[in-house]
Amino acid sequence: MRSVHHFISGKSVESQSGRFGDIYNPNTGEVQARVGLATEGEVDKAVEAAKAALPEWSTTNPQRRARVLFKFKGLLEQNIDELAELLSSEHGKVVADSKGDVQRGIDVVEFACGIPHLQKGEYTEGAGPGIDVYSMRQPLGVVAGITPFNFPAMIPCWMFAVAIACGNTFVLKPSEKDPSVPVRLAELFLEAGAPEGVLNVVHGDKTAVDAILKHPEIKAVSFVGSSDIAQYVYATGTAHGKRVQAMGGAKNHGIIMPDANMEQAVKDIVGAAYGSAGERCMALPVAVTVGKKTGDEFVERMLDAAKGLKVGVSTDPDAQYGPVVSAAHKAKVEDYIQMGVDEGADLLLDGRGLKMQGAENGYFIGPNLFDNVKPHMKSYKEEIFGPVLQVVRAETLEEAAALPSNHQYGNGVAIFTSNGRAAREFAAQVNVGMVGINVPIPVPVSYHTFGGWKRSAFGDTNQHGPEGVRFWTKIKTVTQRWPEGDIGDQAFIIPTMQ
Ligand code: NAD
Repeated sequence: MRSVHHFISGKSVESQSGRFGDIYNPNTGEVQARVGLATEGEVDKAVEAAKAALPEWSTTNPQRRARVLFKFKGLLEQNIDELAELLSSEHGKVVADSKGDVQRGIDVVEFACGIPHLQKGEYTEGAGPGIDVYSMRQPLGVVAGITPFNFPAMIPCWMFAVAIACGNTFVLKPSEKDPSVPVRLAELFLEAGAPEGVLNVVHGDKTAVDAILKHPEIKAVSFVGSSDIAQYVYATGTAHGKRVQAMGGAKNHGIIMPDANMEQAVKDIVGAAYGSAGERCMALPVAVTVGKKTGDEFVERMLDAAKGLKVGVSTDPDAQYGPVVSAAHKAKVEDYIQMGVDEGADLLLDGRGLKMQGAENGYFIGPNLFDNVKPHMKSYKEEIFGPVLQVVRAETLEEAAALPSNHQYGNGVAIFTSNGRAAREFAAQVNVGMVGINVPIPVPVSYHTFGGWKRSAFGDTNQHGPEGVRFWTKIKTVTQRWPEGDIGDQAFIIPTMQ
């Protein structure tokens, strides 16, 4: 059986832990490979490799660093088909969607090519007599990223492309459920000309994560995953003196106003709710309709649209979404559906028990649609992360807008309306980090920044964009004077510009 190994100092390194994770093909339910789970010592080896590569990489001029990223971008583009197929075989999302995952990663690499411009410091000539002040953004050193299963190409690129362009060296701990694409990324990065040890990949579970969080040589950790783990990573990493950003779960709402273009809203939301089997942190699993007429029309049209969706194996070019990632996740999603029924919501479309012809053991769930979901229900309050759309009925925009604002998660939100003033007011007031106006999945482009609020993100700085550069660098400010001749008496009071 195929084994997936660590990638340390430019070489494939087999784990000696004797502990393995199974890598399933979610289309068939079969174990297709296994991955060795790192010991603390193996994490240490990856950190040592990154440390050894640091002096040269951090002092390589920024433009040369950017050239490696340029080349990497080209290699990702050349290999996008292979990467997408590999990604789909371990994740289960359809191949076209996997290409989107890789492409979104490429977008961040493209952004990182321009980092020399953003890493420039500031300069003030003549801040005092003969005194100039300048600042520089320096890399932090050896840094790490811990990533979830749902975007195994894009999310590693969010982190390492920006961090490495800034002059850091990197240890990546990807999800053990679909670890092959992250290894391919590291191989291609080496091929692009990155020196050995600049990007290392270690696989593992809590043991590896804890080793990263406690390692004295690691200066910063970026995490993306579920909220409880994000909070743990934030608390543990910061307690060990690290800079930490930890993105968590989500429950994004889409508000449909009476003046929305209903046809467009339904088309947008059906993709945002069910695409990638709902396994996106920027999926849209809650639709809030304003007014009875809007609610009735939305539900009727959405039911038709959801019934028409084609679920299939990830290689089926006609399939709109594929299986969920694992048997355990399938069971969890189906438990939430039962919970919704038990809590009294109306299940208009039940996707449980779907058997895919020729792939009977795959982890498929058909589309599910709930109407009359209430804010007190547990199935509303928690993240389901499956192909389940919950409709909540509201009477007014105020009532509708309070729902995402008061929810424990605050990743994304969308409003569908033709009233610019209402949309503008909503965007300004809503207590959520990323807002879409007639855009169902408002994932910001790579040169802006990605991050939610409340339990969707712990820490202060977001992913990629200028915020990413701030996260992966520290600022140093220099005040210089080159005096000529006698500099006079030293003052014993704090110097001021009086
Ligand atoms: P997860 O929290 O199970 O795993 C994320 C990472 O944490 C993995 O690398 C995993 O190995 C590690 N991990 C798991 N259990 C751990 C433990 N007990 N201690 C230490 N480390 C542990 O998340 P997942 O299931 O892989 O991904 C789905 C979750 O990620 C969803 O909640 C989704 O909303 C979230 N997500 C958030 C964003 C965002 O930007 N906010 C983006 C993508 C996914």
